[in-house]
Amino acid sequence: MDRFQHYIDGQFEDGSDQFESLDPATGAPWAVMPMASAAEVDRAIKAADRAFRTGPWPALTATARGKLLYRLADLVQAAAPRLAALETRDTGKIIRETSAQIAYVAEYYRYYAGLADKIEGAHLPIDKPDMEVWLRREPVGVVAAIVPWNSQLFLSAVKLGPALAAGCTVVLKASEDGPAPLLDFARLVHEAGFPPGVVNILTGGPEAGRTLSSHPLVAHIAFTGGPDTARHIVRASADNLAKTSLELGGKSPFIVFDDADLDSAANAQVSGIFAATGQSCVAGSRLLVQESVKDAFLARLKAKAEAVAIGAPDRMETEVGPLCTARQRDRIEGLIARSLKAGARLVTGGQSPEGAGFFFPPTILDCSTARHAPALAEEFFGPVLSVVTFRTEEEALALANDTAFGLASGLFTQSLTRAHRMIRGLRAGVVWVNTYRAVSPIAPFGGHGLSGHGREGGMAAALDYTTVKTVWLRTSDAPIPDPFVMR
Ligand code: NAD
Repeated sequence: MDRFQHYIDGQFEDGSDQFESLDPATGAPWAVMPMASAAEVDRAIKAADRAFRTGPWPALTATARGKLLYRLADLVQAAAPRLAALETRDTGKIIRETSAQIAYVAEYYRYYAGLADKIEGAHLPIDKPDMEVWLRREPVGVVAAIVPWNSQLFLSAVKLGPALAAGCTVVLKASEDGPAPLLDFARLVHEAGFPPGVVNILTGGPEAGRTLSSHPLVAHIAFTGGPDTARHIVRASADNLAKTSLELGGKSPFIVFDDADLDSAANAQVSGIFAATGQSCVAGSRLLVQESVKDAFLARLKAKAEAVAIGAPDRMETEVGPLCTARQRDRIEGLIARSLKAGARLVTGGQSPEGAGFFFPPTILDCSTARHAPALAEEFFGPVLSVVTFRTEEEALALANDTAFGLASGLFTQSLTRAHRMIRGLRAGVVWVNTYRAVSPIAPFGGHGLSGHGREGGMAAALDYTTVKTVWLRTSDAPIPDPFVMR
């Protein structure tokens, strides 16, 4: 079996404990992973704190930090085929997606490399003649980055890139489900030449996560995962009062009006829900379709869903691979059963196939006459689309916003005026109009409500890893007058 190591304070090491990682396509163990204990996490945080305060890192100019990030971007690009194969093997995400996504991850590091020396302070036109006042943008300190299994390289790039550009140091915890690509990525961080302790990468479960979230030396917790875990993290951060940024799940509406190009919308909906086997936070998992085009649109979706090539994730022709874990498949089956009981109707899919691996087929549930079905409220995090119809624009907007989440939304219409009205009314961090699932390092991304807070991507994310220091400098040589008069 393959073996992976932690990367702490510039050293590769076996963990004090180990576990076996399963190949989701076969369900069989394929690699031995280290499992971080609270003591190892503590050591990594102390290394990050040392690197933040002393040593070469704080002495580097922002331009020099940017150059390290450029080097890392080039290494990621060169290693993309190896990283993609590892992510596919350990998480079941299909090779078609991991190859394309990891090549694009290099662009995130490039974007933040270029941004490192553009994080500027400010000079204030202060209302006192003998004072100069300016603001310094300084890094917050040690960042604890915690990511889920899906798209680990991507979800860590949107944290590491801005945090390192801002001058922070990082302890990154890979998910205990499928950590291989991130543990391997540590070799690239090492090769790029980041000083020891600046980036530490380990894996572990809730114990490691709790230590990271409550540690007194952690200044910012950047988390992607589910809302329940986020609640644990926020409670744990009552100890260190660290700042949190939370990228959580969604139940994103995909709205199709009767004037939409139905063929384009169907293609966008299929990729919006079945890509990544539905294990995507922005999955367009609630289809709201205007009643007059429901049959025509559902017929297209059903035909496409049934034609999807399901199979081994390492084959280029595969379009839907296995789920990451058996636990995930069980959860999806349970939620479908509860929804059928509540009156939802199965249009296609719904049954795990016989045989090895954690496979689940593209599934469509018609909830038009079951508006209280849990399928419309709870996140599947799997290839399951829940459908509901509407008659008017007002009803579409009310249904779209009838969720505790608020991450993404998609809108298909030819009417420019209606698109603008909907954009204004939708309660979501992202609105895609006549497209879906487009992302870029230049565009901020994040949600409201149960989908979390904070933004990743763009300049906003880099500023989020800084704090403002206000400097007052008196320019007068005259003695300070009456000490009891406030100036
Ligand atoms: P999860 O919340 O179970 O786990 C995420 C991470 O948190 C893992 O690394 C896990 O080890 C860690 N963790 C577990 N318990 C912890 C604790 N008590 N304290 C600190 N850390 C702890 O999420 P998951 O099931 O692995 O991933 C699926 C969820 O992630 C879905 O809800 C999905 O929507 C969300 N997600 C969101 C985005 C986004 O950008 N908004 C992207 C991808 C996934």
